[in-house]
Amino acid sequence: MTWLTAPGDRGSTLYVSPAIEELTGYSQEEWAAGPDLFEKLLHPQDHERVLADIEAAGGVPFRIDYRLLARDGREVWVRQETSTVRGRDGEPLYAQTFLRDLGELRRAEDERERIAAAERAATAEVSERESRLDLVRRVGDELSSTLDQQAALERVTDLVVRELADWCIVDVIEDGNELTRLAVARAEPTTGNGRGPADTPGDGVRAVAYSGRARLLPAPGEDTGEETARFLDGLEAASAISVPLRARNQPLGALTVARTARRATYSVDDLALVQDLASRIGLALDRGRLYRGVEERADAARVLEHVGDAILLLDRQGTIRLWNPAAEAITSIDAKSVLGQPAEKVIPGWQNAVDTVPVMSSPDPGHEEVVIPIDTARGERWISISGVRFFGGTVYAFRDLTDVRRLDEIKADFIATASHELRTPLAAVYGAAQTLLRHDFALDETGRERFVSLIADESERLGRIVNEILLANQLDAGRVDLEVEPFDAGELVERVVEATRAYAPPSVTLDVKVEEGLPRVSADLDKARQVLVNLVENAVKYSPEGGHVEVEAAETKGAVRFSVRDEGLGIDPEDQDRIFEKFYRADPHMVRGVGGTGLGLYICKELVERMDGRIWVEPNGEKGSTFLFELQTAEVLAHGLPVPGRLQFKI
Ligand code: ADP
Repeated sequence: MTWLTAPGDRGSTLYVSPAIEELTGYSQEEWAAGPDLFEKLLHPQDHERVLADIEAAGGVPFRIDYRLLARDGREVWVRQETSTVRGRDGEPLYAQTFLRDLGELRRAEDERERIAAAERAATAEVSERESRLDLVRRVGDELSSTLDQQAALERVTDLVVRELADWCIVDVIEDGNELTRLAVARAEPTTGNGRGPADTPGDGVRAVAYSGRARLLPAPGEDTGEETARFLDGLEAASAISVPLRARNQPLGALTVARTARRATYSVDDLALVQDLASRIGLALDRGRLYRGVEERADAARVLEHVGDAILLLDRQGTIRLWNPAAEAITSIDAKSVLGQPAEKVIPGWQNAVDTVPVMSSPDPGHEEVVIPIDTARGERWISISGVRFFGGTVYAFRDLTDVRRLDEIKADFIATASHELRTPLAAVYGAAQTLLRHDFALDETGRERFVSLIADESERLGRIVNEILLANQLDAGRVDLEVEPFDAGELVERVVEATRAYAPPSVTLDVKVEEGLPRVSADLDKARQVLVNLVENAVKYSPEGGHVEVEAAETKGAVRFSVRDEGLGIDPEDQDRIFEKFYRADPHMVRGVGGTGLGLYICKELVERMDGRIWVEPNGEKGSTFLFELQTAEVLAHGLPVPGRLQFKI
């Protein structure tokens, strides 16, 4: 309002604006009636001060704030600004006073302040929101940047404690359904130094992880600090959020954040943010798991590709789901023609065999196996097979035991023949000794000599058989030493033939053919002699009806070739390689009446090969066979025989 008075006289109101009524409840007329009203309306507490100030101003412009009491008893804060208006000549014309309702002014200021605060709050909210979005984005980046889950989760918890919490904990349900504490991070610098979280998740977090229900503690509007501490298994915190980690409806663990400061309890907004983070972590965990699953499956597939055992997987309907390369190799049936087919239709003899195959419910070590024959394109094979049942069907594993079985058969034959071989000379020795011991039966000198030399001969035969067995064993164990020295092959042949002639039956004649100027052989002389003796003895032995045996030594490229040709029983073409196998005898049951252990040629082959030579047999024209072996001439051979390694599983 405007109030004009004569200079120096407050009582002489020249003009007062109508707003006075609005301000004080008194009309223009009442106000203008006299100076008393103004003084009366001054608030008692301001009264003295205001009048004194006005007095003191003495025409100089001034400003003063005070209270007026309105007609209805209201206190009205006003600001008075008074100045003197002067004429052109400088004469004071009147005093001009403006009274302003300070309440109004204050309200406007308050409003301005309120708007400014709201603006500040809005800005803060935007930046808060931005920082939350940023957190979500950075957490997402961390999770997708690596497959190393542990490392990624550690970085994520670090990020969370920077923005949102004093503690951040990730618990994950491992494959065995155990909830395990995977990552724990703490804000730096720490607020409060209370107890940290336990090494293993407590019941509260466990319940969140398995039930899939989030917890916000304390619940909005409540103050349950103790429950928070209980929930967190003793971790000192004023407020906490724990939300489940899930993917594809599977519980995967829990994400828990906690604040230690009382004033900063979590809000529902924070809960939403943590849930958002948890869903990202859940997806990452799930992706990691899928990836590992794929890797494991790929490894398993590689193992099945390369393992030496045959693997056959049948589903519950008996359809073949897997047939690995080893199964293809053993059965000569390729995977293409059996996969997806019923086993009994595509595996010959399966229907009859399957009932005899032991099937376990778990793959325990030392489980039963059965050895059964199967017909394949390569002929009959013997396989050792067993099965393990699981919810989706049955896995059968089988190995080809044909060779092992053959060896077993041969070994059994060997024991039969070896004992027969040993028994014959033993019986002869025993009989001769008994005869010599008899007193009732006088033997002349010649008779006694005959029995004694029989004992000597048969003992020697016994000794040779035992030596053969021992040597074969030593060869197997790699315990045979060779001493290489140059020697004369012609001389060796002469001597061996000469010695054989001494006991060969008269029906067998022996001949020697040695090339002129033969180079010396570089090999172990004793072992070379042993090989040659064996071959010549065999030639005599396997010529039961007599015949001619020719032993020859001749030079071939860098080697000397020894050959022993007989006109005896000969060897069937299919036996030609096998007679060099251990224990193998072409006539195991001695239908032809010639005995032996089946070790001689095995020993020959092993010895020749250890001297870097080779040995083989060829048919001798119409009748009989020729055994040949070659030994090197120039090179001096040195042998270190390898001892086979042994794999040890220590427990
Ligand atoms: P053994 O003579 O003690 O049976 P070998 O290893 O010396 O054992 O011979 C293996 C098999 O090879 C013999 O059982 C025999 O069937 C056959 N064999 C060896 N030498 C001859 C040969 N000169 N003529 C015919 N068959 C032979």
